[in-house]
Parts: sequence; C-alpha cells; structure tokens
Amino acid sequence: MPELPEVEHARRSLEHWLRGATLTVAVLHEHRIGRGTTARAFGRALLGRHVLGVERRGKWLRLVLDEGFLFSHLGMTGKWVRAAPDDEPLRFERARLDGKLRGRTISARYLDPRMFGSLRVAKEDLPAWRALGPDPLHDGIDVDDMLARLARRSGAIKPALLDQSLIAGVGNIQATEALFFARIDPRRAARSLSRKEVAAVVRGILRSIKRTLSIESGPSITYVEEPGAKNPFLVYDRGDEPCPRCRRPLHKIVQAGRSTTFCSHCQR
Ligand SMILES: [Zn+2]
Repeated sequence: MPELPEVEHARRSLEHWLRGATLTVAVLHEHRIGRGTTARAFGRALLGRHVLGVERRGKWLRLVLDEGFLFSHLGMTGKWVRAAPDDEPLRFERARLDGKLRGRTISARYLDPRMFGSLRVAKEDLPAWRALGPDPLHDGIDVDDMLARLARRSGAIKPALLDQSLIAGVGNIQATEALFFARIDPRRAARSLSRKEVAAVVRGILRSIKRTLSIESGPSITYVEEPGAKNPFLVYDRGDEPCPRCRRPLHKIVQAGRSTTFCSHCQR
C-alpha cells in the first residue's frame, strides 16, 4: 500500500514527465475515481492547462496547473505509470493524462485495481489536504510539538502515528519500521513517551522513509502486497522471523485493526 515514500516516488515521476507540459489528453475512464468529479468536468478542467509542478503532502499529490489543481490520492493500489501515447488503455487503467512539451508527448496512466484512490479537480485546496499535519520530508517534524500533541492523546503510540493530522504520510509500514528503529514498544501509551523517546521516533520515521526511498528508485515500483513482490522491510510483516538486531522471533499483534510486528526484547 502506498505510503509517503511511494507517493514521493509518484510525485518525482509525474514532475519529470509533465512539468511544463500542456495537457492534450485528460480522460477519466472510471467515474468512481473522480469522487464527485465527473469525466466531463475532469476533461474540461484539465485540457489545455499547463502543469506548473507536482507537489506532495503526506500521501496526497497536487498537480499545480496554471488554473486550479488536480489532486491525486493513490488509495491502496493506485500508481502512475508512463506509456507511449498510442498505447491502448493498460490493465486497470482508470485515468489518462497526456502532456505535450517541445513537440514531444508523454502519456501518464493512472492504474488502480481496487479503486480506493481518487482524482479530483479543484480550484482551491481540498479540506483533506488542509487537514494534514506536518510532512516529515517537506516540513520536518518538530520534537517539542510532537511531544505536546502525543501528551494530549489516549491510546498507544503505534495507532497515533497513523493519524494523518499528527504526521502526514506515515502508514502501517513506516510506523512499524520507525518504532523498530526507535526501539519503542508499539503498545506503549502515546503520552508515556519521554522527550528523548519522541526524538528517537522522529529520527526513526525519517530513517525509515529515506531507507524506503533509496530502495524504491526504479522507473516503477511494486507494492509489498502485490503477488511476487519481495518484502524489503526490516520487521514489517515478518512475524515469527528473527529480529534483525537480536535474532529472537518477532511478534505480530493487531492494534486498532492493523497488524504490527515488533521485537519485545529490543523495543521497550
Ligand atoms: Zn530484537
């Protein structure tokens, strides 16, 4: 499932393909992805527009146009891939954007088998974009601010890290990995963490995101849940496998409906 590193990968790709281009094709094949933006409104809002840049905040992408925006959320299985302009629609293709720049056309296709993603045109920022907390790469995370916000919460640290208004872009994978790096037990009460421990969690989040980004640097990426994908993560989804640090078996538990893997010896 796409989290911050995968969405950042998509941002870099879209920026590389479409920045400066004029949109010559804008088709929404599947109205469900529009979440209220119809196929007609999609084409009308985008055709002929210039792409000034592609921005990301948390798991959201924002194509900045000379008039308005296109917001893209990859949901659970969404991805942007490049195709040749005369290629037929690809498997699971839900939308298409072609951009022309200096006589050359690049065709970007949005694929999403399960269709939890969304593509919405808007004149101003979506409420979901405005509600996001600081983005670890874009804004950085202030340790004292995070400490104060965790102190006001009930519940365990791991589910808290998934709250997009606390930190934008961290999902189940990055939270699991970050707590391993920080040596913090995911079951700890969020408000029980000391300043030093919160600082370790913040460092763990950055370390995990940067590690994932360095692994996922090819032209297209495979999500860990996809058939045949290798698990590149240290502890995520590795229940009963040996801890990479102490070799004792990792534990798998469920918290707030999401799986968590951790080492009860290394993470206190
Ligand atoms: Zn261990």
